Order: sequence, then C-alpha cells, then structure tokens
Amino acid sequence: MPAQLIDGKAIAEKVRHQVARQVQARHQDGRRVPGLAVVLVGEDPASEVYVRTKHRACEEAGIHSFRHQLSENTSQQALETLVDDLNADPTVDGILVQLPLPQHLDERPILERIRTDKDVDGFHPYNLGRLAQRLPMLRPCTPKGVMTLLQESGLKVRGLNATVVGASNIVGRPMALELMLAGCTTTVCHRFTHDLEEHVRRADLLVAAVGNPGLIKGEWVKEGAIVIDVGINRQENGHLIGDIEFEPAAARASHITPVPGGVGPMTVASLLENTLFAAELHDGMDQ
Ligand code: NAD
Repeated sequence: MPAQLIDGKAIAEKVRHQVARQVQARHQDGRRVPGLAVVLVGEDPASEVYVRTKHRACEEAGIHSFRHQLSENTSQQALETLVDDLNADPTVDGILVQLPLPQHLDERPILERIRTDKDVDGFHPYNLGRLAQRLPMLRPCTPKGVMTLLQESGLKVRGLNATVVGASNIVGRPMALELMLAGCTTTVCHRFTHDLEEHVRRADLLVAAVGNPGLIKGEWVKEGAIVIDVGINRQENGHLIGDIEFEPAAARASHITPVPGGVGPMTVASLLENTLFAAELHDGMDQ
C-alpha cells in the first residue's frame, strides 16, 4: 500500500486560521494586535521572497508586520542598534533577522542580542536551552512545524526509534530535541556519520534535513515508517525536490511528506504561532 501523504499546505492553512481567530479574539477583548518586525539586510533574492511570504502571512492573520530593509553595507553596530530599538519597542512582540546576513556581519552576537521573549525564530541559546531542558518557550519554527504535522496527522510518536539526518542549529539539532521531548529514542546523523543507511533502516520515524537531493535512498526506508523530508533542493529545471528519493520511499512508508507542500508551509505557520505566543507573554508586561 502506498504511503498516506501528509498535506503540509492544508495543515499550515488550518494553523494560520487558528492564529487569525485568536488574533481577532484578542482585538475584540481590547488587547493589542501582535507585531512582528522582520529585518532584511541586503538584496538576496531568496531572502526577499521569504520576507514577502512572511509579511503576507502576517497580514492574513491580522498580525502587524514591520519591515526593516537595510542596505548591503550596513555596519554591525547599526544592525545591533536596530535590534536594541526593536527590543525596546512595545508594539513589537517578535523580532526576526532574516538569514543569511552579508559576509561582513557576525550573525551570532546579533541573534543573541534579540530579547529572548521576542526571539520568534527560537535561535537564541536561551530558547534552545529551554527546549533541551524540556521547558520549551519559543521553539524553532521548522522543527515545531514538523511536530504539528505529526500531531495533526494523528500520529503517536512516543517510544518510536527516530532518526534525524542533519544536525544544524536551526533544523537538525532542535528537531532531535523536539523528538526526545515527545518520547522518541532519537539518533542524529551528520556529515561524519558512518553507515547512514543502517541508521535510516532502523528508523520508525525518519526526518531528513540535509540539503542533498536524493541522499537517502527509498529502499533504505523501513516498511511502515513515517517519513518527513525537510530538505529543499532546486533542480536545473526549476523543480524542488527533497533529500529522500520520493517514489520508492512512498512505496514503503506509512506516511510521507511531499516536497514541495510538506514541511515548507509549516515554517511560516509556526512563526505566526510564535508571534502570537510572544504577544501573550507580553500581555500585562510593562515592556
Ligand atoms: P545546513 O547546511 O546548515 O546543515 C546540513 C546538515 O546536514 C549538517 O548538519 C551536515 O552535517 C549534514 N550533512 C551533510 N552531508 C551529510 C551526509 N552526507 N550525511 C548525513 N548528514 C549530512 O542546512 P539546514 O539549514 O539545516 O537545512 C537543511 C535542508 O533543509 C536544506 O535543504 C534547507 O533548504 C532545508 N530547510 C527547509 C526548511 C523548510 O521550511 N522546509 C527550513 C530550513 C531548512
């Protein structure tokens, strides 16, 4: 039996409507509309598309979105001053600095300067530490989106053998922390892993986040496994594909996410949830 497709587009839309309803309810209660500040440095075309998508999603959910476009040669200090201003601005609940930053800027001190209760990307060491200690606050958007996909698909993951392929700070590592929190026995593979195939073959739940098209062979997938492909790779013909060979994997899996239309739409949906969560944190707080 071919796998059931996990429809990320439909689930993301449901999440976005839920956020919109809650934002409207806040408004009706006389509470402030949540605000998200998005900072873009330079003119990277892919980043511009991401920023536009986030802006549009905010608009649809009734969240204020403040766009800060800085020139390519902005200094470290100017960017840090902007973060300080946004940290102090009571109309801003969430701050997102679009990555990657131009080469001359040092990303780490910028991300660590964002107030932890406004860190809607969840990349600050404080928020990652909270997740590691099973006390999540603002959770990195893509792994959080994967957990929502699993929940909304009615999939119980406690006790499963999970393998995460990819160990970056923004996807693989927090993904592993989310899965441990959910009770999975979690293995993390990365560029130095010996025998990737063996770890994939053991997985009841497989999450791939590498950025290497077709790295994971469909025939490695365990019969009945849940397969989540976070990878996004653009082919020469412009089509997007994931890290896992889709057709042979779908022939073995019980559930699988397509690329595109799987994990991708969930990242923005999680960002909206995080912005609303931050606004609730700020209710009644003299920011
Ligand atoms: P990254 O380059 O920062 O990290 C890649 C990871 O893969 C590293 O930990 C590396 O050790 C590991 N790796 C490399 N080669 C490997 C191999 N042969 N075997 C096992 N592991 C290997 O990438 P990232 O930012 O984590 O993104 C990963 C992928 O996810 C990319 O395709 C990216 O476009 C995609 N992505 C999608 C979303 C989304 O919303 N769906 C969000 C973020 C990233």
